[in-house]
Amino acid sequence: MPRATLELHAGQLTDEAIRSTMTNCSRGEAHRMRVPEWVHGCDPAREVVGWRDPKAPERGWLLVPLGEAVVGLALRATPGKGVRTTAMCDLCRTTRSPGDVGLFVAARAGESGRKLNTVGTYLCTDLACGDNVRVLRATPRLRPDPGLSVSQRQEALRERAAAFARTVLAAG
Ligand SMILES: [Zn+2]
Repeated sequence: MPRATLELHAGQLTDEAIRSTMTNCSRGEAHRMRVPEWVHGCDPAREVVGWRDPKAPERGWLLVPLGEAVVGLALRATPGKGVRTTAMCDLCRTTRSPGDVGLFVAARAGESGRKLNTVGTYLCTDLACGDNVRVLRATPRLRPDPGLSVSQRQEALRERAAAFARTVLAAG
């Protein structure tokens, strides 16, 4: 189950608090996580926050609001430069240029993860889904889900990210 993270509010996000939310990696991996400065000002109780590890390029991290908690997910990018054609992110449904969407895998939490059971999903390679749903004007590189308002896209992103987090947390 998600560890208790109710104290995670905007402006109070310490590295320790972020590490304590991580559900599907070892304590050692969580300890080695690098957190960019801007993440500390985010509010992961309300929106999906994601970043690539500046010192470990294959590593990515997501903070996902799930009910009253925040679930931290460790992701690993598959080698290569991402999908070679225009592709859509599974979480934010933004259509991106070739190379800007890639396959990420998350180990399942708990016993299954230790047996190398993983969940794969295609995501924006910059993991900036929370920003991408706020884009107002589509460009050839970045086309948000058409026909939806920004708040509808944000809600849909939270729902899809929560569903992904539940899959990672599910036993089996
Ligand atoms: Zn995305």
